[in-house]
Amino acid sequence: VIQVYAKPLYRNGERQGTVFVHRDITKEFEVDQMKSEFVSTVSHELRTPLSSVLGFTELMLTKELKPERQKKYLTTIYQEAKRLTALINDFLDVQRMESGKQTYDKKYEDLVSIIENVIDTQKVNTTIHQFHVRKETDKTTVLGDRDKLAQVFTNLISNAIKYSPEGGNITVRIYERGNRLCVDVQDEGLGIPEEAIPNLFKKFYRVDNSDRRRIGGTGLGLAIVKEIVKAHEGEVTVTSELKKGSTFTVSLPLVTLARGGDDERETDE
Ligand code: ADP
Repeated sequence: VIQVYAKPLYRNGERQGTVFVHRDITKEFEVDQMKSEFVSTVSHELRTPLSSVLGFTELMLTKELKPERQKKYLTTIYQEAKRLTALINDFLDVQRMESGKQTYDKKYEDLVSIIENVIDTQKVNTTIHQFHVRKETDKTTVLGDRDKLAQVFTNLISNAIKYSPEGGNITVRIYERGNRLCVDVQDEGLGIPEEAIPNLFKKFYRVDNSDRRRIGGTGLGLAIVKEIVKAHEGEVTVTSELKKGSTFTVSLPLVTLARGGDDERETDE
């Protein structure tokens, strides 16, 4: 995108010509576009839960309701307020990561225990999915920020649940490949159209398709995954087939115990 200024040039009151200034404003243009996308997504995504909080509180304030009904409405209000909090946290996370202000508290952690905790937390959100963990290696230590890595697998596993609305197996496979520790998160859900894959990890990107439009989201989850994995010198990739399912693979540098004790560890690289 080129912006052009035209300025007439005068000398002694006489017009000599015109000065054209060409400026490449592609970056500014992109930032502007991102900002307006951000504003429209944010307002839409925030408005939906907020209007149900408002609607249900109004009902409760103006109507005589049976206790069961009250409880039902309160549950909705609670869930929507929780969704709002999660949304706002996502927005803040992305902003912090992009400005380079995110700090990571890296320690030696067992990736399997992180993943198992995430599955235990996510399990309560579904009755139609079966979870399987296949641990194919014993070297499952990584150097990483426990909470941030948990967020990576929370986002991937909650997507696996969300985007397989008819249920099915969700399989997490942990294995070694070269000098990397890899984790596959596989579902049997909607799958992802091939043309969407290059955009999948971009902020605010959501696959546009009538099946999915009802499924809530911000398009930030995978962007956050990518940033966190990158900060751990890792990579995230995806393979998918429409109506069959998707597999997201996270690979991280492998850490091995150095001979001589628990405290001395070194990475393979
Ligand atoms: P969100 O889920 O909030 O829309 P994400 O960044 O987590 O945002 O995902 C971006 C898009 O990628 C989603 O809108 C969805 O269309 C697609 N997607 C992510 N994970 C899966 C999955 N496991 N199966 C099918 N589609 C997925």
